[in-house]
Amino acid sequence: MLTSSQITQLSRSIEVLDVMDYYGIAYTARGGDRYEAFCPFHFEKTPSLKIKTDENMWTAFCCQKGHDAFAFIREMEPTFGDAIKVLKKLAKADPEENPLLLLEEMLEETKDNTPERISALYYFVGIELRDWLDRHRSSDNYLKLCSKIDARFEEVDHFFQSEPTLEQAEKFYTKVLEGLETNV
Ligand SMILES: [Zn+2]
Repeated sequence: MLTSSQITQLSRSIEVLDVMDYYGIAYTARGGDRYEAFCPFHFEKTPSLKIKTDENMWTAFCCQKGHDAFAFIREMEPTFGDAIKVLKKLAKADPEENPLLLLEEMLEETKDNTPERISALYYFVGIELRDWLDRHRSSDNYLKLCSKIDARFEEVDHFFQSEPTLEQAEKFYTKVLEGLETNV
C-alpha cells in the first residue's frame, strides 16, 4: 500500500469506531480510550483487536495487522476501489469535513512533490472509476460495466505498484479518464 500525507490526512477525518460500526463489528469499552473486539480477519476465542480512540488507531495482535481507519477499510474490502468507495461514504457522513475537497486541494498542492503527487493520482483515479460506475448504476449493462471497471482497478493497482515516474503516472491517469469518456 502506498503511504503519503494525503492518505493520513484523509484517514484522520474518520473515526476507527465509526468504521467498526459500519462493518457491524461489536466492541467493548475497556476503560479510558481503550476498546477491544474480536478480530474479524480470523476466528478467535478471546478478543485481540485493540482500539485506541485517543490515537484513532487499531491493532489486531493475533494477526499483526493494524494502523488507521483506512487501513482497516482496506483489510475489509476486496479491491482498492471498494475501499475508496467506503472511505468516501464514511467521510461524507461527517459534515465538518469534506475529504474530497481536501483531496482536490492536495492534488493542486502536490504539483512539485513527486511521490506525494503520484500517490494523489493513484487515489484520484480510484475515486473517478468508482464515481463513473455510480453514475451508471441504472444502466442495463451495469453488471458488465462492473466487471470492466474491476479490470480497470486491477490495471491501475498494477500500474502504480510498478513505481512509475510522475510523467508516466500523469499520462496513465489522463488515459484512464479519457477511456471513461469514450468506453470502459
Ligand atoms: Zn486476527
